[in-house]
Amino acid sequence: MITLGFYGAAGEVTGSCYLIRTDTARILVDCGMHQGEREADEHNRRLPPIDLAEVDAVVLTHAHLDHCGRLPLLVNLGFKGRIFCTAPTAELTAIILRDSAKLQSADCERFNRRLRGAMDPCERPLYDEQDVERTLGLLAPRPYAQAFDVAPGIRASFRDAGHILGSGSVQMGIENGRRTVNVVFSGDIGVSGSPILRDPVTPVPADAVVLESTYGDRDHRTLEATRTELLGILEDAHKSGAKVLIPAFAVGRTQDLIYHVGGFVRSGLLKGLNVYIDSPMATETTNLYRRFKDVYDEPARAMLADGDSPLQFPGLRYVRTGEESKRLNDTRGPMIIIAASGMCTGGRIVHHLLHSLERPETRVVFVGYQGYGTLGRRLVDGARRVRIFRKELEVRASVHTLGGFSAHAGQTGLVRWMQPFAKNDPRVLLTHGENPQRAALKLKLEETYRFTKVGTPGYADEVEL
Ligand code: ZN
Repeated sequence: MITLGFYGAAGEVTGSCYLIRTDTARILVDCGMHQGEREADEHNRRLPPIDLAEVDAVVLTHAHLDHCGRLPLLVNLGFKGRIFCTAPTAELTAIILRDSAKLQSADCERFNRRLRGAMDPCERPLYDEQDVERTLGLLAPRPYAQAFDVAPGIRASFRDAGHILGSGSVQMGIENGRRTVNVVFSGDIGVSGSPILRDPVTPVPADAVVLESTYGDRDHRTLEATRTELLGILEDAHKSGAKVLIPAFAVGRTQDLIYHVGGFVRSGLLKGLNVYIDSPMATETTNLYRRFKDVYDEPARAMLADGDSPLQFPGLRYVRTGEESKRLNDTRGPMIIIAASGMCTGGRIVHHLLHSLERPETRVVFVGYQGYGTLGRRLVDGARRVRIFRKELEVRASVHTLGGFSAHAGQTGLVRWMQPFAKNDPRVLLTHGENPQRAALKLKLEETYRFTKVGTPGYADEVEL
């Protein structure tokens, strides 16, 4: 008997974690962190109901925190198996988990300091830096498109998911007596035609598909329209000598922006730009993108062949120290500053906003999703006043929101990704999306392919394969 259990990202977009149990093995696919909601910490401590020391292995689709973020907790609780992923994912996971441990201990310290003397100041991190190092020692990189043994009776292979560096969809063959059951995990699926990375590939065959549904109900604005809009904002700001602040996720979005802005410079559309990447994590990640050139798509390879780099252009600088970053606060434009965090919940972007939001010439350009309750969301929603570091600020800068740089496929992309299964009506399990998005995608898949077995599992549901 084979069972597949859903222990995260079931009716929500974070906390991905699936448990597969057979007569001979127990494995997990992803073990990510729940993020955002107030109960996240409690959710994060709730793990699949098995002895973690008996889990044979983990297969990791990609390095985003909501997919890899609880691996050190598994290790802390006794997991000793291997964690299979692609080579770029292994390196990126190291950057992301080390940062996560550091952030957690800083957050807890701050929280406990505030509560000193209160009844129960017992906030503690999910794991520490030592747990992270032990986890990194278990990572076992595997190449794309080559099958490998995961555990007795289970083989798997990665295919390009086009989402971030190293991201993969997983095809898994699971022995069940004399029969092999094929299961595909989409992981997070990227956008076809996005820069640098190869387009997503659908792994086949599949008796069951676990499909993400983040944007299951809608399509994004086209990349071309979004690029044109960005170019317009940058041209205008440059002419008027303005500072442009772009809050961006350090992993993926920053590299895409470098590619697009570099494209404007290389083609002569923008001249004499000063662009600063002001995020140590984005700089580290960009270096990784530079190293793993073998996963680039054709346009990026052609650029390399011409002696160019998709991640470098005249006028681009990487800001290293905090001092250098502070100097930019007081330097007038024209200049573009790309800094994390993407939702302005921390990082150097917050300091830049503090210094520039009250200047009417400043442009703030949002290029990614802004969660409820974040500073980014308040600005996108048009707040006229915000508080930063206990200082009340009037928002005089102009705020732009660009919708087309998503790292996730829209509804049309997800439906197209399922096309290779059109004829065999597999069981489809929609995860990694909120319920309205899942419902819309279910309907669309049923209409398009006449699928008859599309499910929307809840937390801790287990299905037999
Ligand atoms: Zn992701």
